[in-house]
Amino acid sequence: GQQAEPPYLKGLNPEQRAAVENTDGPLLVLAGAGTGKTRVLTTRLAHILATGKAWPGQLLAVTFTNKAAREMRDRIGALIGGAVEGMTWLGTFHSIGVKILRNHAELAGLRSGFAILDTDDQIRLLKQLLEAHDVDEKRWPARQLASLIDGWKNRGLTPERVPAGEAASFGHGGLGGKLYAEYQQRLKVVNAADFGDLLLEVLRIFQEHPDVLKEYQRRFKYMLVDEYQDTNVAQYLWLRLLAQGHRNICCVGDDDQSIYGWRGAEVDNILRFEKDFPGAKVIRLERNYRSTPQILGAASGLIAKNESRLGKTLHTNREDGETVTVRAHWDGDEEARVIGEDIENFQRKGEKLNDMAILVRASFQMRAFEDRFITLGVPYRVIGGPRFYERAEVRDALAYLKIVASPDNDLAFERIINTPKRGIGDTSVKRMHAIARAQGISLYRAAEAMSLTDELPAKARTALRKLIESFNRWRQMAMGIPHTELAEIVLDESGYTEMWQNDKSPEAQGRLDNLKELVRSMGDFENLAGFLEHIALVMDVEQSAEEDKVSIMTMHGAKGLEFGTVFLPGWEEGLFPSQRSLDEKGRAGLEEERRLAYVGITRAKRRATISFAQNRRVHNLWQNALPSRFIDELPEMHVEVAPMATSYGGFGLGTYGKSRFDDQTKPFGNTYSTPGWQRAQQRWSDGKATRSTPRFIEGEMVARDTDAVKYAKGERV
Ligand code: ATP
Ligand code: MG
Repeated sequence: GQQAEPPYLKGLNPEQRAAVENTDGPLLVLAGAGTGKTRVLTTRLAHILATGKAWPGQLLAVTFTNKAAREMRDRIGALIGGAVEGMTWLGTFHSIGVKILRNHAELAGLRSGFAILDTDDQIRLLKQLLEAHDVDEKRWPARQLASLIDGWKNRGLTPERVPAGEAASFGHGGLGGKLYAEYQQRLKVVNAADFGDLLLEVLRIFQEHPDVLKEYQRRFKYMLVDEYQDTNVAQYLWLRLLAQGHRNICCVGDDDQSIYGWRGAEVDNILRFEKDFPGAKVIRLERNYRSTPQILGAASGLIAKNESRLGKTLHTNREDGETVTVRAHWDGDEEARVIGEDIENFQRKGEKLNDMAILVRASFQMRAFEDRFITLGVPYRVIGGPRFYERAEVRDALAYLKIVASPDNDLAFERIINTPKRGIGDTSVKRMHAIARAQGISLYRAAEAMSLTDELPAKARTALRKLIESFNRWRQMAMGIPHTELAEIVLDESGYTEMWQNDKSPEAQGRLDNLKELVRSMGDFENLAGFLEHIALVMDVEQSAEEDKVSIMTMHGAKGLEFGTVFLPGWEEGLFPSQRSLDEKGRAGLEEERRLAYVGITRAKRRATISFAQNRRVHNLWQNALPSRFIDELPEMHVEVAPMATSYGGFGLGTYGKSRFDDQTKPFGNTYSTPGWQRAQQRWSDGKATRSTPRFIEGEMVARDTDAVKYAKGERV
């Protein structure tokens, strides 16, 4: 007989419904932005659970961010009524990887409770290796080695498997491969894994231990992957191995939204899905539920300029809305000011700040908006910006706690061994390192041994003994008192809090506040281990969505999200597309930037405003900027150019926008010949403004300058 249709299926279109109900066998949902891919995945999970095809613990669901995982968990609960317990394997590749690795740490040469290194720790460790090998760090920076190693890890290459040619690619005499191998050994000694290892080591375990692989193949009856276009080779191999079990793998993605190629993502993974999973079904979704026809039209017209793409049809039944606005500004401050005004206006009309976002290309751009919003008193949240846990004082405090939890964390130990200053100098630390290396023990163990011998000067020895004794005491305490209390004791007894209390610099109070906030935030976790694990994994900052706030984030970070109103500032050549992509040979880099533009525009439901400044202060330098080519490429019918809002008398390029449609067929193609633009150019070339280099003019310092400078040079930031 006919069964009543479950409520969660209502409202899905036939293709979406097919994607939800075809639970068995491999399935690829290939569809453009806003067509409901994520919604299909979520509903599919709900469907599998509701029909009893699997237990929550038998589902593997991969999302791109921790935030997306949380949302998916909540949505599933809402769809089938009641919270779902036991969805252990819903998370990012990293969070799922670390769970598996913890279960089999010994197979990877690690001990349970291994530490997870972040980039900063990773760099410190590599620096030590470079030093040990007398590699000139100026010529061969540790960062470069780090990205080389990350690249190999992303491709699933263990040190033994790195092709010989590539292994010979770093340092004089070609040390890359050798350093990689040593780095891996060193990680094992200090009982740590870096982010890449969370995938690579699991992959290795799967490949070398068929019994373990079988266990997981049997466990995961259904596998679901969101944002499949941005998986790297290691992730792909990992999924393919697991999917050989029940073969019920469903991936959703959009080749036009592949924006992590620079981090090793392979859009090919999506293109060869049918080959890898014989008998795979492919479902296409063509109806966009998110954006107005204008927004969708602008985004589609732009992405159509890319040559390497599958090509998709997209239509929306949503009502007509505003055209996409393009706005020119005199400089970045004005851009921030006008966007701030817009936001206040929209808010006055009753729109929620939560429904508005500013999406930037590079994180240094965020600063201007933060400043502006602070002035205006507009609440905002920075997502993925400089994170709380990355501040120096927080990192120091965490280092202490990490050593309490696992003494063999060398990087943490090195970080605080003489912070606050306790008379243990560089020479002493170097000697400890030498001993640690020679005996294959951790720095802490070497220090412990040396605190009892006379190898170190008396002062250093006494200080060291006191420190080690403190750690032993704290470790004892850890078993009996709450971890927040322990943290306070550690910070007090170590002299760390006092160090900042005695500090007369203006930011000392802020640092003390941050330490308090740190201890407070620990209270959200059951114990120290849980807290430290969380720290290692939070890639996106957790912030409550309850308060009404404007979001500021990068376009990369905005993938998968949606907002009523979206501002896209800084569309200037060299900023977006980035200088790096412009310097690159071939069009791959530029096409990835264009996909990023597509991602940016398609985050908007009702309103999108693109803007650019004619003068951009990057670091302490003024840069004379040209509008992004992507502005040129927007289809004219969906775009309107706003009059320039400049308040610089006599300087205004007020005719700028008008001229675009009045005298030109190719939008912006001849922009630079408009009278306003010529006046501006003239002014610069007259030398009325001080010019230090042909392209840059000195101005005042802005924060996060190093990133900005790197960015301007075309480096990744
Ligand atoms: P992206 O490519 O940006 O990740 P997506 O394909 O994952 O987008 P979703 O985020 O799942 O798209 O959906 C976009 C919006 O459309 C969401 O607000 C979602 O709730 C809505 N939506 C999807 N399908 C339907 C439907 N059948 N009826 C009504 N709304 C829908
Ligand atoms: Mg999505």
